[in-house]
Parts: sequence; C-alpha cells; structure tokens
Amino acid sequence: MTPASASDKSGKVVIRNIGLMLSGDLNRPILDADTIVVHDGLISAVGRAKDCDTGQARTLIDACQTCVAPGLIDSHVHPVPGDWTPRQNQLGWIDSSMHGGVTTMVSAGEVHLPGRPRDIVGLKALAITAQRAFDNFRPGGVKVLAGAPVIEKGLTEQDFKDLAQAGVRLLGEVGLGSVKAGDEARQMVAWARQHGIQSTIHTGGPSIPGSGLIDKDVVLEADADVIGHINGGHTALPWRQVCELCEKSARAIELVHNGNEKIAIEAARAAIALRCPHRVILGTDGPAGSGAQPLGMLRMIALIASFAEIPAELVFCFATGNTARIRRLDCGLIEVGRAADFVFMDRAQHSAGSTLLQSLQLGDIPGIGMVMIDGLVRCGRSRNTPPATTIPQLLPQRQQRH
Ligand SMILES: [Zn+2]
Repeated sequence: MTPASASDKSGKVVIRNIGLMLSGDLNRPILDADTIVVHDGLISAVGRAKDCDTGQARTLIDACQTCVAPGLIDSHVHPVPGDWTPRQNQLGWIDSSMHGGVTTMVSAGEVHLPGRPRDIVGLKALAITAQRAFDNFRPGGVKVLAGAPVIEKGLTEQDFKDLAQAGVRLLGEVGLGSVKAGDEARQMVAWARQHGIQSTIHTGGPSIPGSGLIDKDVVLEADADVIGHINGGHTALPWRQVCELCEKSARAIELVHNGNEKIAIEAARAAIALRCPHRVILGTDGPAGSGAQPLGMLRMIALIASFAEIPAELVFCFATGNTARIRRLDCGLIEVGRAADFVFMDRAQHSAGSTLLQSLQLGDIPGIGMVMIDGLVRCGRSRNTPPATTIPQLLPQRQQRH
C-alpha cells in the first residue's frame, strides 16, 4: 500500500457497517453506532448510518462488522531521529508499530542518541531538533511527539521558557540525567509546568548501566505529571511503594510493556479499587534492552484485560482516551472534532474467544485489518498481528455510486 504523506488531505471518508465501536472514553466505552464520517482528517459524524450524511465519499470503507477503535497511543517511547533505534540497531520500528495499531507515540526522551549531549545548550538543541524532525517525518504516518529533553543540573527557569517558546512540550524521563534528588526535580518540573511543558518521571530501579534508582519518595516530591512506568522499566519498586504512589499521588499511572508485568497487573487492579481508572495510561518503553515491540500496546491490553480481569473495552481506554486527555492530544477518542486515527480489529483466526472482546479476556491479541491516520489508510491487513478473522474492505470508487 502506498504510504500517504503527512500533507495529504483525506477528503470525505465514510466508514460503514462497523460491528463494534470502541470510543476510548471510560464513561461510555462502547458506542451505539455503526458509521463514522471524516472530513479532511477529522471526525465529522458518528452514529447510525441512517442519521449520517454518507454520500459523495472519496473513500468508502465497509468495516464488514469488525471493530473500530481509536488508534493506540504509546505513552512512552525512546526514539532518535529517523525510523531507527541504536539500542537494537534496528530499522523501521515505528512503521512496524503502526502495524500493531499505534498511531501516536510520545517520547520520554531521545536518550539513546549516540553521543547524546548533556550540556545545557546541547540538550536544548537536541530537543528542538527532535521535535522538528518528527513534526516533518512520520514513519508509516505515525505521529511521534518528540523533543523531550532529559533534565540536567544547571538548567534555569529561562531554559524552560526558551524550550517552550521553541515548541518543546515534553520533558524526557526525570531521573535519566544528573537531576535525581526530589527537591531539585520538583523545582524543574514546576518550571516546566509553568511554561506548558509536561513531565514524566522514571520510577524504579536503573534501566541500563548508567541510569539510577528513583524511589517513591523522589517520585512524590518531584510531582511530575506522569508517574512513568510505575511498574518499573524493568525493575519495579516494592509493591508497598507502588501502592503508596497510587494512593498518595493524583498523577497519571503509566504501565509499560518493558516493565515488571506482575506489578503492572497489580497497579491496574489498584487503580480500579481506588476508583481512579482515568489515571491509567499504557506504553511500551521501547525500544529498550528488551527490544522494540511492534505489538507491545496490544500485548499490554490483552495482559491487563486477561490477568487483571478488567473488561477489554475499558483497557482500550487506558491506551487511547485516557492518554489523550492526560497528554492533551487531539486524538484517542471517537468523537466529532477528533483526529480520524483508527485501528480496525477482529478476533484473531482460531482464537478460542468467539468475539473480539472475549478473545482479549482470554489473553489473545486481536488481528488488525486496517489502520487509518488522519483519515488516510496506512495499512490493510497487518503484517505483524495474527490474521484477523474478517478484515474491512476498501470499496473501489466505482461501487460507491450504487
Ligand atoms: Zn525509564
């Protein structure tokens, strides 16, 4: 399939005959609707076919009774410029993740860049360059929100102001640089917040030689917007400390694939018990020592749905709408005005589950039949997931007039 360029406009797109529509919204995870209409990359109508204006579409898709959900948002990645990762010396990991349903990625720091500068002017320059580069370059159409500086000792409030003015909206994981003390981190996180820059803190033991331990006292004191990989990346804090973070902080609870899976399951359960499921967001923390996982987000959804026994339609919200709201993104929810980023899924062939949601409760990952970003079809049947039982059909122009 020809990859669409970032500047292409979708025109009018009609997706009809949707069997299951997942909204990404915890308050109403399943929509009573079978049709989505898109205009130039934005959702313009959601509802029953008879209530939508479905005529004159440039692109018409028959979902063939499969499921449509918002494109998945990986809340925690470590890109470097290009679709390459030096961590595993692998090409094409972002495009490959699109085949795993990921349509947006959020950088937690371009830390793997060989020779990464640690001086103030250098780290600022890198952040601005990464933000610009991924604004211009979208592998597989994926929106990579990058340019997340790793804070180092010596940064002043003026530096955060400069970064914000230059278009930087994120901090890399606090704790990966020389700022590791709670009070110092708190000051910089506050400066960042004041200038509209969101922050994430590394939680748990060191990831790779050279990084360090961040325990719950530092996490609570720093008060970053996102408790990054609360389940460790890979090494988790003791369960008591994780519990305390869930209870005492109101910040986002991020669960990642490259973390401690047992703690991820327990933390998801704790968030439900504490009645704060809206705080839970998902990521991969890839590429990492464990590799890049193109299906990492789907695997997290299946893991949490099956082991934590949380309904799969709610777990999809952790990977879409929750992240969009917490990170103030225009995607992640199927509602009018949002970006038309969708993943089309069905139960994998020969899954023991008789429906998509049932197959996830049993621990199977779904098959992807199509991915759309900004209203443009980016792939048909995924090259990475197990084959979906049914896939949507892109109807040729000719048939649309009938
Ligand atoms: Zn980390």
